[in-house]
Amino acid sequence: KKAHKTKLTIRIVLGMIAGILVGVLLRQLFADSAFANDYLINGLFSIVGQIFVTSLKMLVVPLVFVSLVCGSGSLKDTSRLGRLGIKTLLLYLATTALAVALAIAVAQLFNPGAGMHLSAAVSFDAKQAPSLAEVLVDLFPSNPIQAMAEGKMLQIIVFALLVGVAIAISGQAGERVAGLFSDLNVVIMKLVTILMNIAPYGVFCLLAKLFATQGFEAISSLASYFLVVLGVLLIHGLICYPVLLKLLAGLNPMLFLRKMRDVVLFGFSTSSSNATIPVTMETVNQKMGVSNTVSSFTIPLGATINMDGTAIMQGVATVFIANVYGIDLSLGQFMTVIATATLASIGTAGVPGVGLITLAMVLQQVGLPVDGIALIMGVDRLLDMTRTAVNITGDCMVTCVVAKSEGEMDLSVYGDPSAAVQEE
Ligand code: ASP
Repeated sequence: KKAHKTKLTIRIVLGMIAGILVGVLLRQLFADSAFANDYLINGLFSIVGQIFVTSLKMLVVPLVFVSLVCGSGSLKDTSRLGRLGIKTLLLYLATTALAVALAIAVAQLFNPGAGMHLSAAVSFDAKQAPSLAEVLVDLFPSNPIQAMAEGKMLQIIVFALLVGVAIAISGQAGERVAGLFSDLNVVIMKLVTILMNIAPYGVFCLLAKLFATQGFEAISSLASYFLVVLGVLLIHGLICYPVLLKLLAGLNPMLFLRKMRDVVLFGFSTSSSNATIPVTMETVNQKMGVSNTVSSFTIPLGATINMDGTAIMQGVATVFIANVYGIDLSLGQFMTVIATATLASIGTAGVPGVGLITLAMVLQQVGLPVDGIALIMGVDRLLDMTRTAVNITGDCMVTCVVAKSEGEMDLSVYGDPSAAVQEE
């Protein structure tokens, strides 16, 4: 089993590297070839890649609903739900605020964009952010089926929690329904395993298409911005999280990073925390030993509201845009950026590219031109992939901390590398 598991990681990495190589090759050598364009890039790669992401997404709503009903239904003491919720929310917010602060500090050090001149007129259409009242009311679904059909994650979470709590206090009828849900959960997790096995092909096609169609020339002119975002993402993912995990939960950070390998690759190739939810759940449950009671709540919630990587991009982007437009930001304004980027990350859906749109909120708060977003759009694709990987790592780190503190973690699964790779 161990060999099989390791092989999957290697196969996904190989799929990724091969995809990048094939994509670059097609772009460099066969850009004019009708065959390459029609049959490979927009044919095979596009079709298989889309089917792969779509099938991941297909599992998200049923998985979140069923596992959260199981999780909250098995909580005998429903007051624990409140504690779990508050802990999770606080940790999600605190890690995001830390991420933006770090991003701003590093960006101030390197001053990306200073001395750059605007070459062309740029413009970006910003959307109006919803008010707090709207956000609160919108947590509650008037029609749960519609919420599921539209994939409104927070509404699904609220409905599932309520159903679970009702199950827990419904006596025998509740037990029967709970039994059904827990069987359903097993079946859906099996589907996740099946999908993970076709991931190498999916990842290959996604990356081949991306690298064949996207030019990365823009990166050189925006190198300072690009590198600072990338650097802070790496620092946050590879240093801050491991340190926090050790400090807050006493868990071995090296093991954590190792167990994150597969799911990070999924996040990177799909650019979507949301589509990756099934794999994230699988990772924390099977590899890290977190109980479903905690993960069924923290993972979908995290994939929806906890976006440290996105907040990092927004922090650096703010400094960059201020530099390009020659505007000085005061300390108070930086504080505002930290607060709004944290809130914006809550409002950012876990789908590709949204972080760039919610950046408008942050810029408006400190009076920077929203058009600045158009400047960095060209290099956002690769950064989106990387920040999604960080977003997901943050969700898993907080999930481990909360699970450990609640006694909802099987340490023999987490601590024993050979037990950790058992994946059925
Ligand atoms: N793609 C990111 C995610 O799914 C969100 C973003 O920053 O655009 O986590």
